[in-house]
Amino acid sequence: MPLPKPDPGGVGTDRPVLDQSDFACILAHALAERDRGLGTLPDRVGLAPADLARLVARWFPGLDLPDLDLPFPEPPEAQKQLALLLTWRGGAASEDARWLACILARRSMEGNHLWEDLGLPSRTALGALIRRHFPRLHAANTRNMRWKKFFYRQICADAGFSLCLAPSCGECAEYRECFAPD
Ligand code: SF4
Repeated sequence: MPLPKPDPGGVGTDRPVLDQSDFACILAHALAERDRGLGTLPDRVGLAPADLARLVARWFPGLDLPDLDLPFPEPPEAQKQLALLLTWRGGAASEDARWLACILARRSMEGNHLWEDLGLPSRTALGALIRRHFPRLHAANTRNMRWKKFFYRQICADAGFSLCLAPSCGECAEYRECFAPD
């Protein structure tokens, strides 16, 4: 069974349709990376095989995925910390949100814009996903920071602002990097 076509704008109003579309984008992107030899599918998605199997059973029943019988290495500490931040600070209230916390944390370890590394159609689609599943974090990003930077800023705040280059964004040389539109 092929993955369904994603919602091209990623910003419609039907929540189940959007969720399925976003998961389809994420899986298609991770499958393409796997095909390029970048790692196993669970590693590229950021979900342990048992969780990935449950996600597929819920959203894409009948879809056959590779690598679900392979070992899943322990994620690095920074990735686990970010997944925890998303889960607890974001108000994640569903199993889908807990899966997405792991997925966003894993994909935040890549080097491009987060929406690109998730395979989503736009930054707007990523914002809509975060608003649906992590409403408290979405509401807290009042200055429209780039999402990956915003997550790290939250972790930095928890560490007494010891990770960023300056105690306040307004005095920081990285300001344009963190706030420039994607
Ligand atoms: S602008 Fe500077 S202080 Fe603000 S989040 Fe970015 S790196 Fe941290």
